[in-house]
Amino acid sequence: MVVGSINVDLVFSTSRLPSGGETLTGASLAELPGGKGANQALAARLLGAEVSLVARVGDDERGLTATANLRHAGVNLDSLVVDATALTGVAAVTVAESGENHIVVSPGANARLGVADVERAAATASGQLDAVLCQLEVPDEALIAAATIRPSLFCINAAPARTLPPAIWARADLVVVNEVERAQLAAALDAFSGLIATTLGAEGAVLTQAGQQLASARPPTVTVVDTTGAGDAFCASLLVALIEGRTHENALLRASAAGALATTQQGAQASLPLARDLDTLSL
Ligand code: ADP
Repeated sequence: MVVGSINVDLVFSTSRLPSGGETLTGASLAELPGGKGANQALAARLLGAEVSLVARVGDDERGLTATANLRHAGVNLDSLVVDATALTGVAAVTVAESGENHIVVSPGANARLGVADVERAAATASGQLDAVLCQLEVPDEALIAAATIRPSLFCINAAPARTLPPAIWARADLVVVNEVERAQLAAALDAFSGLIATTLGAEGAVLTQAGQQLASARPPTVTVVDTTGAGDAFCASLLVALIEGRTHENALLRASAAGALATTQQGAQASLPLARDLDTLSL
């Protein structure tokens, strides 16, 4: 089960990122499905997992755009709430030719995801959930409710980073962060006793627990088009690999490769790998 956000990404492709106060013109625009919850739910589904997504969209055209890939891939959307009083979340993404990006998010309906939404979804889930995966684009209340489900594995992708209530840290088995989030949450992560996966961009990722390194992995070399969604592909594949019972080393290798493959096309959802894409890389 993924408890998280659904957005439409308005992607402005530019030659370079603008500096503060600068206006860049001549960008091309694409409207693409995104949101960390949706991206990770889709990524896990494409890797073969049975996935349900607990989320909110507005009763608008963007809500349909944002969920099209999820429906097509067979993500269970029984717990999707169409909120008539809010707009579907939007992320304004600027991507430079180098692949670097800047992102500003208007959460819209995502900010209204609540305890009742998660509890309703949990009540209809059949049996013990293998895992619950959350990111930080939804309110704390929804995250605490998700932690309370007590799945076999509770995973938090602490992105975008913010201070989390102790109940979340106490229940988490696995936390995934990139280098920026690692630095922002350093104190809490240092006190955390579960697994920590830190992604390092083109350098790959490391898996640690209580200050000890358990595994490290480097991704394959790829031609980067757009790094949006690399972290989402990484999180979903790491969790799916761990559910499949793979070793820490192998799970981290598959996650790093999934992250790398996700950078090879524009948009967060277009280049998410299938399980066989990772198998082909002999991972
Ligand atoms: P985020 O997208 O959350 O900032 P990262 O940039 O660390 O996270 O990327 C997540 C994963 O995606 C990395 O661990 C790596 O496996 C893969 N990745 C990201 N950028 C590249 C790149 N330029 N080349 C190869 N793999 C990449």
